[in-house]
Amino acid sequence: MVSATSRYDLHCHSTYSDGVLTPAAVVARAVGRGVDVLALTDHDQVAGNAEARAAAADAGIQFACGVEISASFESLTVHVVGLGVDPDDATLSQGLAGVRAGRHGRAQRIGDSLAEAGIPDAYLGARRLAGSDALVARTHFARYLVEIGRAKDTRAVFRRYLTPGKPGYVRHAWATLADAIAWIHGAGGDAVLAHPGRYPCSPTALRRLLGQFRDLGGDALEVISPAHTPAQFTEFATHARVYGLRGSVGSDFHAPDESWMDLGAMPPLPDGVTPVWADW
Ligand code: AMP
Ligand code: MN
Ligand code: MN
Ligand code: MN
Repeated sequence: MVSATSRYDLHCHSTYSDGVLTPAAVVARAVGRGVDVLALTDHDQVAGNAEARAAAADAGIQFACGVEISASFESLTVHVVGLGVDPDDATLSQGLAGVRAGRHGRAQRIGDSLAEAGIPDAYLGARRLAGSDALVARTHFARYLVEIGRAKDTRAVFRRYLTPGKPGYVRHAWATLADAIAWIHGAGGDAVLAHPGRYPCSPTALRRLLGQFRDLGGDALEVISPAHTPAQFTEFATHARVYGLRGSVGSDFHAPDESWMDLGAMPPLPDGVTPVWADW
């Protein structure tokens, strides 16, 4: 039963993208950690939702089908979470297939770029950890580089290799912000700007992003995210009110040993922010 004190976690990943647990195992862990309402939001992929939805129904928790779409805004990569989408929607599926095709080419270019930096076979290593070439993320490269002893953990790999200016970073054009929001709305979902505090941009560029997201019909900001400090919880709660957006909460859980926050471990949405789930 959903109530005023229900625990929401509306952002997490499974083996269908760069998480390490199957959708059913994500649901089981969420249930064990007291989550009442869960959304699975794999990168550029909706295929894990059927398994998660069935597991959530068996366990008796509320579940929203989700996705986290990679999008480009000016020179930034931003993530738009879709909540309550129909995973069988044809336009969303076609759009995501296009994003995944671009991602596949990017993964090969990351591999080439790491090879030039003296790390051969990184694409094959990342692809093996991803399980297939359907969705290879930088996370898989990071885990492979840890495996071969290039760094002590994935965060160190990102710092040294996979971020702008580093040898394994390649620029890439993802979906447009307009398309990402339109696909989500077309599939009946709410569009949430994920972890807005994590984008490396000036305060002015952030305001342009928030304004454009709102003008394109975006619904909510992910106010509570492990990418944010407590001061940013307050800052993004204010931005949500000022821009007329709702608020969301998500752990961005990927793996028991790797994630910043476990499923269901977030503080509640600050007072004064309308939750994205207000009329679910
Ligand atoms: P991609 O969509 O392939 O560019 O990969 C993005 C993913 O990399 C994110 O969803 C996170 O899972 C992971 N990631 C990004 N930055 C970091 C970081 N600094 N440390 C660890 N993981 C990161
Ligand atoms: Mn990820
Ligand atoms: Mn993200
Ligand atoms: Mn995520």
